[in-house]
Amino acid sequence: MSECCCPSTDKEEANKDKCFVCGGRIVYFQAPKEFTCGSCGRTEQGYVSCENGHYVCDTCHKAGAFDVIKEMALVAKSKDPFATAEAMMDSPVIPMIGCEHAFITAGAFMSALRNAGSLNVTDAQVIDAMRRANTISKAAYCGLAGTCGIASGLAACFSVILGSSCDKDREYSMTLMAMARATQAIAAEGGPCCDKDFVRTALTVGCQMAKEYWDVKLPIHKERIVCHHFKRGNHCHGSRCAYFPKTKEELRRLRE
Ligand SMILES: [Zn+2]
Ligand SMILES: [Zn+2]
Repeated sequence: MSECCCPSTDKEEANKDKCFVCGGRIVYFQAPKEFTCGSCGRTEQGYVSCENGHYVCDTCHKAGAFDVIKEMALVAKSKDPFATAEAMMDSPVIPMIGCEHAFITAGAFMSALRNAGSLNVTDAQVIDAMRRANTISKAAYCGLAGTCGIASGLAACFSVILGSSCDKDREYSMTLMAMARATQAIAAEGGPCCDKDFVRTALTVGCQMAKEYWDVKLPIHKERIVCHHFKRGNHCHGSRCAYFPKTKEELRRLRE
């Protein structure tokens, strides 16, 4: 199944994302329920399962995907984080919706900054930002507590590069500002949560801030992106989204 970071509604809400185990619909709950992870056997409180009760804990859900995306970040040659993020989101290990998008954001942005050169970003820093993004993101909590793992994934990049920690001054504020600006931009996109759109939104903020903070101008080409993920689930914002196909011909071609 695919756990999600989406707003819950008054009623249990089902969407078109499919359970990894049985292909059943994913259901969101406003109050927590006790589930046993079908992969590791851990019992915990959760807010998302499939309609037949299948549940996979956060750790198991993200485990394989992290290694795949880490390798993609390490070998990426592009200075355009959008190009790298699109390739990552196209990976078959990445669901339509899920906290994997937090470390995709971090991996795509950090690898672009590394490839741009001027900040001397290392592979170890790329992995560190991805690990932090993976740690802070928790399925469904964007809607449940207003904290989006994708925004945190971007903020983790700024934290790593700035050397931020709780006891710092300016570095700490600048990192929180990355989180605040990314969160605001994501909130302005509206719901339900579409992680594809939100990754692109966070990266847009990241590129603006890299220019402001470090005078790093990444060669981005987000105008080339036409999303094809709308086929995978009903979290798509359709024509409200800047990346939705603009013409009937594009729509027809991408549906095939
Ligand atoms: Zn199922
Ligand atoms: Zn598990």
